[in-house]
Amino acid sequence: MAETLLWQDVLGHEGNIKRLRIMLRGGRLPHALLFSGLMGVGKRKIARLVAAALLCGKEEAPCGECPSCRALLSGTHPDYIECAPESRGKSTRVIRIDAVREIEQKVARKPLLSGCFVVVMDEADTMNEAAANSLLKTLEEPSGEVFFLLVTARRAALLPTILSRVREMHFGALSPDVIERALLMRGIAAEKARALARTADGSLGHALLLNEEDGLQLAEDAARTLFFLRTLDMFKIWVKAEELGRLPRERAEDWLLALARLLRDMLALHAGSGVLFHEEKRSEMANALVGFSEDRVFSQISLVQEALKRLRSNASQRLIFEGLLLRMQEA
Ligand SMILES: [Zn+2]
Repeated sequence: MAETLLWQDVLGHEGNIKRLRIMLRGGRLPHALLFSGLMGVGKRKIARLVAAALLCGKEEAPCGECPSCRALLSGTHPDYIECAPESRGKSTRVIRIDAVREIEQKVARKPLLSGCFVVVMDEADTMNEAAANSLLKTLEEPSGEVFFLLVTARRAALLPTILSRVREMHFGALSPDVIERALLMRGIAAEKARALARTADGSLGHALLLNEEDGLQLAEDAARTLFFLRTLDMFKIWVKAEELGRLPRERAEDWLLALARLLRDMLALHAGSGVLFHEEKRSEMANALVGFSEDRVFSQISLVQEALKRLRSNASQRLIFEGLLLRMQEA
């Protein structure tokens, strides 16, 4: 794990971090914790820091210098186990029972370097049922000093029995300001960092993804389509649907999410309040507002939500977009 071991390097989540540090200081950290919340807000990073502190054993903050901390930084700590789903061939990503059994065998021994074992399980929701049931047994009857830190962005996919055995900590969205600072620290130009931070829905991970994939251009395209929708004839709609139909699925989803954000901005403008996701398009949107009554925006939002749902259900992408654009025109 090529990261630093400093609490100061964690972005946002002040309340949760304070609580974690208090529990660490008092030696009262639960043995099974679940970090839930949006993708890309820093849950795994925080889990690793908690692990470092537990393994270092000097209360709330890892010292960064002892043999345990050095081993952790170089990725060779014998008492630290990190587990994530593997994908085999085309099959979906899943944590299998073999992986859980391997963990169980390890933690049944004595720790070598630290006073305990720590297991960080990323995307814990991808455990299949056999794996989850096996883990459950370990959570119920831990064999020694072991801490489990489970991380998930899809809490609803976890078995209720697992949820009932862990103490949960929820991580909310990061503020645009926090994301902007993080992007600046990564060397992204100021203007772009600002725009990305506002379009990232509170997730630094999402902002970085948008940056990589030039998601701003995607948002711009969604805006153009929205503002000029009424001027498009059947042929142009057909061409646009064809173009959007060819996007990779995740990009198509991002396009729809950008459209949804623009529509929410329109509602905020109607209400005459609030910070906009697309602050840079404020005047353009204000000018277009006359053609977008509140009722119209509401029905367009539900059309976009429906399209998102259909996109995830493997329907033909071109047809989804064609249907969406036509119905949005009429809405
Ligand atoms: Zn240390």
